Amino acid sequence: MSIAPTEHPLATLNATHRCDRCSNSRAYVLVLLKDSDNLPESGELYFCVHHADQYKEPLAPYTRDTIDERWQLTEGIRDDGHVH
Ligand SMILES: [Zn+2]
Repeated sequence: MSIAPTEHPLATLNATHRCDRCSNSRAYVLVLLKDSDNLPESGELYFCVHHADQYKEPLAPYTRDTIDERWQLTEGIRDDGHVH
């Protein structure tokens, strides 16, 4: 990670976001999809770290943007959102 701590944006993802694939893991990655008839209407997919890695390449052609907040795992932000 090359982002300095002071440059971290406010977290978009929190404990209420769950992986769309396994649903019991907290989501740390949000994939914003391009408009397409073949994709969910919401155009958003939430993934835990495990599934983010698994789906990154298959979804690459459909991905408009990716919000990757895995830095939360290493910056001491717990599920309750408090910074330690
Ligand atoms: Zn998952």
